[in-house]
Amino acid sequence: MATLNDNLEKLDGFLARFRAHGIKNRIAGADRDGGGGVFASVSPVDESHICDVARGDAGDIDAAAQAAHAAFAEWRDMPATQRRAILIRIAEGIEARAEEIALCECWDTGQAYKFMSKAALRGAENFRYFADQVVQARDGQHLKSPTLMNITTRVPIGPVGVITPWNTPFMLSTWKIAPALAAGCTVVHKPAEASPLTARLLVEIAEDAGLPPGVLNTVNGFGEEAGKALCEHPLIRAIAFVGESRTGSLITKQGADTLKRNHLELGGKNPVIVFDDAELDRALDAVIFMIYSINGERCTSSSRLLVQDTIRAAFEARLVERVNAIRVGHPLDPKTEIGPLISQEHYDKVTGYFDTAKADGATIAAGGAPAGDTGYFVKPTLFTDATNDMRIAREEIFGPVLTSIPFATEDEALSIANDTPYGLTGYVWTNDLTRALRFTDRLEAGMIWVNSENVRHLPTPFGGVKASGIGRDGGDWSFDFYMEQKHIGLATGQHKITKLGAL
Ligand code: NAD
Repeated sequence: MATLNDNLEKLDGFLARFRAHGIKNRIAGADRDGGGGVFASVSPVDESHICDVARGDAGDIDAAAQAAHAAFAEWRDMPATQRRAILIRIAEGIEARAEEIALCECWDTGQAYKFMSKAALRGAENFRYFADQVVQARDGQHLKSPTLMNITTRVPIGPVGVITPWNTPFMLSTWKIAPALAAGCTVVHKPAEASPLTARLLVEIAEDAGLPPGVLNTVNGFGEEAGKALCEHPLIRAIAFVGESRTGSLITKQGADTLKRNHLELGGKNPVIVFDDAELDRALDAVIFMIYSINGERCTSSSRLLVQDTIRAAFEARLVERVNAIRVGHPLDPKTEIGPLISQEHYDKVTGYFDTAKADGATIAAGGAPAGDTGYFVKPTLFTDATNDMRIAREEIFGPVLTSIPFATEDEALSIANDTPYGLTGYVWTNDLTRALRFTDRLEAGMIWVNSENVRHLPTPFGGVKASGIGRDGGDWSFDFYMEQKHIGLATGQHKITKLGAL
């Protein structure tokens, strides 16, 4: 197994080109400086400067949108089998550079190598999965009526914008870009300003795989500049967005004048409900995994633990022991389970909740303090004695911080679980089958797992309800977003046409 030093040495090699040349925008297969100059990419591990990054402005977005528009017809009309072959070559390219992607991602985001090595490979899986759908994606139905043969077809919507966040940025980018390309759309990608490295690797891999210039364009920069201009651009037909709920509202407003179709994957404050009849050892493992892996910077994290009062004391005691044993450390150390948070701003936000918890009367049962002297490390934290009206139970903290809330009855658990503006995921632990059916039926969430952590299966719909989003990814749902349904009615005979202005 690689050691921290092995990984640091390899990373040094991978970063050399970024240090020497920075990151430019990539438009129509060529590098382009940012109209707004450059901004610094900083590693959350030691706050060191990684490289300068092009600060894209409205002019860069316009150039990228024009390039995506110009490349659209050729990409749309390329035989499906040829497009499929390119997507498979992209997957192979990702696999070939998986270590580079994983190490750069860790350094850029603070995510632990333990999880990022898998995230890089999941990116390849996204391309393979949607490559397999390319040929059928345009198929439609035959809906016969008395006078017409009605057929439907699906056509790609056109150039689309993809705006991604900084948590697991590579995996999330592929999740959007792979189905868009498979549908036949061209793409302008605006990665998060906090984590630009792997978006650059992705566009390079795609071009090396034979993706024609202009089919995938990357414009770096800030949300309120490059991101806003992308939402407002008239040549961009749809925006696939992953990020915070309040940014989702802005995306909708910014796209109103050009009537954008938006797909919004937003925040969550997801409940995990543990009943006293559950298999508690497995429930404990899953509760810990779903909030403390990926630094807790995960939209589907189970950040509210609802635990039945009959087992609460024992369950929380075991939780404290395990949480205190989670290994916080250098993200490139393969043994590390939690790395630093993404930025100073996010660190301030997360640590601010330690005071909020105390002020609101909750108990800090584990953590609740920074870890280490440099970088944005925090100890994994558990709040107990909480109620659902406290800010620690209502707001998305987006760090390794769990809020435990007791309940007595199934009805009470359901009412606490649903008492939130969000509705992304829910996790239910019970061995009572009828209760599981009853509960999942009434739980307000886009995705629910029973006796399981979140196990993603690409054909299933991924997305949230309420403030957690609009639209679904996965399977054919992705194509519904990136494609237009078209109906064509063909007369099968001489049916009567109502005559106006004729005798
Ligand atoms: P964010 O909303 O701050 O930023 C996301 C992206 O939007 C970035 O690229 C940013 O530059 C851009 N942006 C910001 N303002 C914009 C504007 N006015 N117009 C256009 N683009 C703009 O989110 P973040 O802090 O980067 O990511 C964390 C959030 O993402 C959390 O809330 C998390 O729950 C959510 N998330 C959701 C999912 C999901 O599938 N539901 C997955 C991952 C993350």
